Amino acid sequence: MINITLPDGSQRSYDKGINAYQVALSISEGLARNVLAAEINGEVWDASRAIQTDVNLKLLTWNDDKGKATFWHSSAHLMAEALEALYPGTKFGIGPAIETGFYYDVEFGDREFSSDEFKKIEDKIMELAKTKSEFVRKEISKSDAINYFQAKGDEYKLDLLSVLEDGTITFYTQGQFTDLCRGPHIPNTGAIKAIKITNIAGAFWKGDEKNKMLTRVYGITFPNQKELDEYLLLLEEAKKRDHRKLGKELGIYTMDDDVGPGLPLWMPNGTIIIEELEGLAKETEEAAGYKRVVTPHIAKESMYITSGHLPYYQDSMFPPMELDGTKYYLKAMNCPHHHKIFDAEPKSYKDMPLRLAEYGTCYRYEQSGELFGLMRVRCLHMNDAHIYCTKEQFAAEFRAVNDMYLKYFKIFGIDKYVMRLSLHDPAKLGQKYINEPELWLETEAMVRSVLIETGTPFVEVQDEGAFYGPKIDVQIWSVIGREFTLATNQVDFAQGKRFNLNFTNKDNEPETPLIIHRAPLGTHERFIGFLLEHYAGKFPVWLAPLQVKILPISDKFMPYAQEVLAQFKKAGVRVEIDDRNEKIGKKIRDTEIMKVPYMLVIGEKEVAESKLSVRRQGKGDLGMLDKNEFLAKVVEEIEERLAPEA
Ligand SMILES: [Zn+2]
Ligand SMILES: [Zn+2]
Repeated sequence: MINITLPDGSQRSYDKGINAYQVALSISEGLARNVLAAEINGEVWDASRAIQTDVNLKLLTWNDDKGKATFWHSSAHLMAEALEALYPGTKFGIGPAIETGFYYDVEFGDREFSSDEFKKIEDKIMELAKTKSEFVRKEISKSDAINYFQAKGDEYKLDLLSVLEDGTITFYTQGQFTDLCRGPHIPNTGAIKAIKITNIAGAFWKGDEKNKMLTRVYGITFPNQKELDEYLLLLEEAKKRDHRKLGKELGIYTMDDDVGPGLPLWMPNGTIIIEELEGLAKETEEAAGYKRVVTPHIAKESMYITSGHLPYYQDSMFPPMELDGTKYYLKAMNCPHHHKIFDAEPKSYKDMPLRLAEYGTCYRYEQSGELFGLMRVRCLHMNDAHIYCTKEQFAAEFRAVNDMYLKYFKIFGIDKYVMRLSLHDPAKLGQKYINEPELWLETEAMVRSVLIETGTPFVEVQDEGAFYGPKIDVQIWSVIGREFTLATNQVDFAQGKRFNLNFTNKDNEPETPLIIHRAPLGTHERFIGFLLEHYAGKFPVWLAPLQVKILPISDKFMPYAQEVLAQFKKAGVRVEIDDRNEKIGKKIRDTEIMKVPYMLVIGEKEVAESKLSVRRQGKGDLGMLDKNEFLAKVVEEIEERLAPEA
């Protein structure tokens, strides 16, 4: 008999050789029907694979990320079977699951291939899925594996095989298709109930442009049609809200070949949003006792050797420039500069905590293939700050940072968020993690209790902390349910030592401060990219580049329009007049496209009664309003940073 421990800690004994599917069946039939795979001692296995020793077991279903990944990877095999059936002689590269769905890199030979074929492939996949073919795992010797793919003439699989060691190789077969694969896979193809081929793209074999270009076929599958329909709706909505499209239409940012890839140029409208965000950050940080600093964009090599960025982070930095025989680097992080400010004057416990804030500009090398609109860039403006504190102050400081995150989420209408708390692994102290066993446990416990006390949703992940301390990644969801990683919030017990930072404690002894790195608004680039999608470009009034547009019906009403303009401007409202010689209908349409929150239509009646006809973006006519009352309402919306009314 063997003992199997389930995630809730309960133990069950079974005969040796039992598999995860049978374990599920012994619990309930419904559960067994939904099992896609199982996590055995942290490793994902086929649900049908025999278990020979005592293990920890977690059953994986569609509701687990790893269950989904297994489902999608299995779908890639099924798609390959369909492609082989439809286009004999097709050669196959790799076919992994990705964040949403899967792809397979294939070589169609001389055959032309286009999106016209998608429907045919989808139909074939569904036909094959219905055969409920089992995914059968088989260990195979290297020479037999080579013989198989030589006979088939698939040089890509042979290339993959060449670096594998004999005795570690497995094949998976479902229906008529056999693949070189480590697995795991779902029990059979019957679970795949809905498919969409989403895209094709060129992809060099092994990502190397010296190699042949293959066709990457993207798809996504679901265990029911309803979820596919919902996904396709979301996709359509996401397309409308694409930050690159809206960023261009609304004059937020642009890219230019001469400036370089991944280096956004912020246009006037984008710059207004940046300044509003910085205004919010400055106000909030000042109230929370932060001090602002400004630091250069470059520093000498020696500082990055002290910080450890060199050589460990070198691949993510721009190459150095040489000046007077010294190497300088563009900064990839603001921390070292801030540490130097901490160190510029002697500190005592009375100076603690010290909170240094800067909207710092950083430069990072992202591979050109990884660049994506505002989401992955090479120049970023970070809502950065470093808090230097004593151990006794840590819990309160961490709590204040957490409160700041929650305050921001409220302002921006971010209702769904999760803090992902990454912890250390005691077995790896001194290697993967700085060797401070007590500090790790203490700070982890303090962070955890703050999250629990404040009711902040969080998940804990073992063995994913930063080298220098526990780390929180903040994940947020836009209103259409897309996930973004916004920012991190990290505890650091290493940098203080590396930079030899000290304060004199109450016993008159030098002591190293704890450091908290935090960036609640992330970077302008990623956050504004997120907001464009989140608001579909319809910014709340306080963030809108243009808040009010005055639309006179004809030139006759310009004097009154000018008067309104002056009054609104004086009150601090961003306002313009559309003085073009256009019909009022066109003026309204054009203003709608630019998603200006308020439009004021001015004609005979408005002038006579000294009133305003107000239109709200997306809502239409609000009727004739008193000028002063309306202005007071707009000013309140701006000053209170009110969210758009639903
Ligand atoms: Zn596979
Ligand atoms: Zn930092």
